[in-house]
Amino acid sequence: MAKRIFITGIWHETNTFAHGRTELDDFYAYQYSEGDEIFAAFADTNTEIGGAMNAAMKLDLNLIPGLFAGAVPSGLVTAEAYQTLVKRTLELLEGAGEIDGVLVHLHGAWVAEGATETDAQFLAAIRSKLPPGTPLVATFDLHANLSEELIAQADALVGYDTYPHNDMGARGAEAAQILHRMLWSTRRPVKILRKLPFAPPPQVQGTASEPVAGIMAKMHDMETWGGIWSASIAWGFPYADVAHLGVGILVQGDDHGHALRIADDLAMTIWRQRGDFDAGLVEVEDAVRRAMAAPGGPVMLVDVADNAGGGAPGDGTTILAKLIDQSARKAVVVLCDPEAVRGAKALGAGAMFSGNVGGKSDDLHGPPMPLAGEVVFQEPVRYQRRGDYMTGNWIDLGEVAVIQADGVTVMLTEAKAMPFDADHLTAAGIAATMQQIIVVKSAIAWQAHFRSFAKGEIYVDTPGICASNLKRFEYTKLDRALYPIDDDGIWPAK
Ligand SMILES: [Zn+2]
Repeated sequence: MAKRIFITGIWHETNTFAHGRTELDDFYAYQYSEGDEIFAAFADTNTEIGGAMNAAMKLDLNLIPGLFAGAVPSGLVTAEAYQTLVKRTLELLEGAGEIDGVLVHLHGAWVAEGATETDAQFLAAIRSKLPPGTPLVATFDLHANLSEELIAQADALVGYDTYPHNDMGARGAEAAQILHRMLWSTRRPVKILRKLPFAPPPQVQGTASEPVAGIMAKMHDMETWGGIWSASIAWGFPYADVAHLGVGILVQGDDHGHALRIADDLAMTIWRQRGDFDAGLVEVEDAVRRAMAAPGGPVMLVDVADNAGGGAPGDGTTILAKLIDQSARKAVVVLCDPEAVRGAKALGAGAMFSGNVGGKSDDLHGPPMPLAGEVVFQEPVRYQRRGDYMTGNWIDLGEVAVIQADGVTVMLTEAKAMPFDADHLTAAGIAATMQQIIVVKSAIAWQAHFRSFAKGEIYVDTPGICASNLKRFEYTKLDRALYPIDDDGIWPAK
């Protein structure tokens, strides 16, 4: 008879430096499904659940749905949201009847009020309801801040190997395969975690670029060695002020000594190259000048500090101000500003807009910017992602208005737009390939799509809660020196 596998997940990347809290409604608004709704939501998507569903079919596993909740990366999650989601998961687990195994999809950088080891505590809560010996396999994001506590709660864990993340389906399938292997034997892998005193900003974590590409290739080679079940490197999410911040190397295999040697080898390889993780930021005025002077477009101006997918508000005006100052042509900026959208909606398409845009969520991403121009588009926007990043996900931007202010096109949205593809621009009538300058509020997730046609990219030194210069932040929870937050760290630890 097919084994019964409970599948569930909660996904949140928490920026503890962000203003405001992440509430239950933020999960309901972005991604929430339970029971069979999960299968409808994730079938044929390149997500962990989509991948696990395909693998389960091949492996003859009977998936029993729990819930899947995800919120846009944002500030500390409220205790109420945390407790409600965990409680509901446990209710669904109890109602699921006899279970042979569990798959849990995590982010690994989730921080809730009163639960500093949130992902680990969530797994522990599930574990507490399972008969001893029930195998549990978890997946985590490449930006996870792994900890010993988390690793201890699962029999095996599988992390994304790509950033931009386009292997979520494959990792979900891998987790199901590892679980399947455990269901038919009592064998469990030895898990070795190495934590480096190193926290590179996401901008330099891209797996298609050096130094990460070479390190991942080395890891993948080691993964094929005899006796190794799976290896992952979680490069960490540095905008979380938690004690377990930093790069984690996880090696799982049959033999303790063998897994340990591989983990130490990878750790030393990364540590020796820490100086090569250079963000190469360009000052704003100079960045705009260079983009305007480039022979062809679009040139991407990357506003890492206002990374909408990393917990920033996505309403930063620092680059927009310079584009207007320097009379840029064919430049596009997307800002999340519900108030300005309402103003434009009241006017309607074809009217002249005049008002402040952006800079309203906090005082860390530039001031509100006076803008005047024609409302050239005004409609609600809902679209399905077609790129290879989070393919098939439905995105709702709410009401959207596009203001044409001379050569600068400003797209105002009610919900934050994460530029994993150009579908949000297309949906609002903006042709990405025709632009000279596109501002993206993203670290590197934008690369998955835009790099296929962009003529240049400049990482801009803007202020904000996802800034690549980590010395801008005040960490209070670290118990050791971490490079590059501190001038250096110590490895191997004494
Ligand atoms: Zn990530």
